[in-house]
Amino acid sequence: MRRYSVFALAREGVRHHTGWDRAWASPLPKSRYDVVIVGAGGHGLATAYYLGRTHGIRNVAVIEKGWLGGGNTGRNTTIIRSNYLQDPSAAIYEKARSLYEDLSQELNYNVMFSPRGVMMLAQTLHEVRGYKRTAEANALQGVETEFIPPGRVKELCPIIHIDGPRYPVLGALWQPRGGTARHDAVAWGYARACADMGMDIIEQCEVKGVTSANGVVTGVETTKGTIACGKLALVVAGHSSVLAEMAGFRLPIESMPLQALVSEPIKPCMDVVVMANTVHGYMSQSDKGEMVIGGGTDGYNAYTQRGSFHHIEETVRALVETFPMISRLKMLRQWGGIVDMTGDRSPILSRTPLGNCFVNCGWGTGGFKAIPGSGWAMAELVATGQPGPLAAPFGLDRFREGRFIDESVAAGVAH
Ligand SMILES: Cc1cc2nc3c(=O)[nH]c(=O)nc-3n(C[C@H](O)[C@H](O)[C@H](O)COP(=O)(O)OP(=O)(O)OC[C@H]3O[C@@H](n4cnc5c(N)ncnc54)[C@H](O)[C@@H]3O)c2cc1C
Repeated sequence: MRRYSVFALAREGVRHHTGWDRAWASPLPKSRYDVVIVGAGGHGLATAYYLGRTHGIRNVAVIEKGWLGGGNTGRNTTIIRSNYLQDPSAAIYEKARSLYEDLSQELNYNVMFSPRGVMMLAQTLHEVRGYKRTAEANALQGVETEFIPPGRVKELCPIIHIDGPRYPVLGALWQPRGGTARHDAVAWGYARACADMGMDIIEQCEVKGVTSANGVVTGVETTKGTIACGKLALVVAGHSSVLAEMAGFRLPIESMPLQALVSEPIKPCMDVVVMANTVHGYMSQSDKGEMVIGGGTDGYNAYTQRGSFHHIEETVRALVETFPMISRLKMLRQWGGIVDMTGDRSPILSRTPLGNCFVNCGWGTGGFKAIPGSGWAMAELVATGQPGPLAAPFGLDRFREGRFIDESVAAGVAH
C-alpha cells in the first residue's frame, strides 16, 4: 500500500485524487484462518495489528457484524489518560498512552493524538485525599501526574467557575500528557495497516455461533458462512456475554448503555480535558469546536445505542455549576454505546475454558484510551497462549480467587 505523505498529497492533488489505494477491502471470508477475531472495534483491530507486526501471524480475519469502528470505538468521547491507582492498571494504560504518542507515525495514519492534558477535579475533601494518593501512586508507577491547586486549575481552564456554591473546585489531579485522539481514525489506521499485511477485515458479517470439539474451538458460524480457525479471540465489548454464551461459558460482565452528547460548534474556549467525577460529568472541545460532554452509565442493563432525554438533563445539570457557559449552548446530537462492565471495573484479557479461545472485554466506560496497549497485550496472549506481564493480572481467574483490581473510582465513575 502506498504511504501517505506530503508528497503523495501534492501528487494526488494535481491528479484529482484518482490514485489513492483503497485503505482496506471487505472481502468474502476464506474457509479457514489461523486466527479469527470477532469485533472490528479498536481492540479487535489493534490485536490483529500486533499479531501481524510483533508475532508474524498474518493469516487473520477480523469479523464485524456492522461497520468497522461502529461500536463503542466510534461512539466514545476519546479521553486518553493513565492516572489509575492500581499498579496493573497504570501499567497497561500507560503502555497504551505511550503507544498513542507515536501511533500516527507507526500506522502512517493521522490519529490526531492531542496530549492537551487531562484534569480530574477534586470537588470534595474526600476527592482531594483520593487524588493526592493517586498522584503518589502514579509517581511510584512512573506515570507523570500531579495534584494542582484551584488557582492552577483556573489558569489551565479559564472557563471553569471554581467557587461554585455546592461543589467548589478544591484542586485537581493533572496529567499533562493525557488528552484525546480521533476515535474513527484509530480504528481506520489499524484497519489499513492490517489490510496492508494481508489480513481480511470482513464487515456486515455477524457471528451467530461458535463450534467446538474436544474442548477447543473449531470455527464460527456467521451470516457469510462457516469459518474454521486455529484460534478464536472474542473482542466484542458490550456483546461479550452473548458471544461467551455461544462458546458455552459465562463471563462476569454486565452490559449497560453509556451516552454522550455534543453541542453546536463554538470558538475555541477550552484546550484541556476536564472530568468532574463527583457531579458525574466531563467535557472537552473537539477540533470542530463542539463541546463533547458525557456522564455516567444508565442505571440498568440494556443493549440500546440510543440517547435519551434524562441523560441530557442529568449530565448538563451536573456540569452547569462548574461550567456556567454551557447553559447557553445548543445541543447538536447525542448517542449511546453498550459498555461492558465488570464488578471491579477492570478489564478481562484472558484464556477461557476452551483451549484456543481468548477473550478481551470489560473495558467498560474507559477502553478507548487502552486500545494500543490492550491490542499489544492481547496479541501476545493469542500468539503464545500465555498472558505476558501486562495481561496476566487481568485473567478470569481473579474472579474465582477474589483477587480484584478495584478501579471503581478511577474507571467506573467517568473516563
Ligand atoms: C458514550 C461513550 C463514551 C466513552 N468515552 C470514553 C472515553 O472518553 N475514553 C475512553 O477511554 N473510553 C471511553 N468509552 C469506552 C470505549 O469506547 C470502549 O471501552 C472501547 O471503545 C471498546 O472498544 P472495543 O473495540 O472493545 O469495542 P467496540 O468498539 O464496541 O467493538 C466491538 C465490535 O464487536 C462487534 N460485534 C458484536 N457482536 C458481534 C457479533 N456477534 N459478530 C460480529 N461482530 C460483533 C460490534 O459491532 C462492535 O463493532 C466510552 C464509551 C461510550 C459508549
